[in-house]
Amino acid sequence: MANYHQSLRIDTTGLPLEWIDYRDATKLYAVEQVVYTLGNELYTIYGGVNAVSGVRSQITVNSIIATKGKTKHFQDKMRDYTPPLNNQTLFKRDAYLCMYCGTRHGRRELTRDHITPVSQGGDDHWNNVVSACKRCNHHKGGRTPEQAGVELLAIPFVPNYAEYIYLQGRNILADQMKFLLGYIPKNSPLHRRIKLERIA
Ligand SMILES: [Zn+2]
Repeated sequence: MANYHQSLRIDTTGLPLEWIDYRDATKLYAVEQVVYTLGNELYTIYGGVNAVSGVRSQITVNSIIATKGKTKHFQDKMRDYTPPLNNQTLFKRDAYLCMYCGTRHGRRELTRDHITPVSQGGDDHWNNVVSACKRCNHHKGGRTPEQAGVELLAIPFVPNYAEYIYLQGRNILADQMKFLLGYIPKNSPLHRRIKLERIA
């Protein structure tokens, strides 16, 4: 059961809200919170047999589920939103590339590098962190890129809300991806990195 794909929950206006697992998804169907669905059918959950009708209950869950209610002031929220920083989403933001040597690495080989080291007053913030391989991070040590004579391959950025939903996604399906891409700004570096990830 745990291997079911996650559904993307959106509001009735189509704004992406969050990823939900099969438990939350089936619950939303069961309490009739689902207004419409998009994307493909993911799976069907079977319930008990109704003693009167003899019909077995079943819920088919879609990859994208619109639930009741609009998200108030969502655009404003999106503009000011700063997602929490964690390595999982940071590495994905940087397409699992070391931002110094450009080599692609697995999650375990990557580290969070503070561009301006914390010891020199650098913040632990999206704008001051990049993915770096252990080797480059070790080489750079407690120095800034200038001090260490290394160059950053890309400027770090703060993901917006839709970008963060993308970064949080596990095994995002093609239809969900297509939907999410519509909410990721055209100038976002993620567009190129998403293509990179597909090629890899
Ligand atoms: Zn490196």
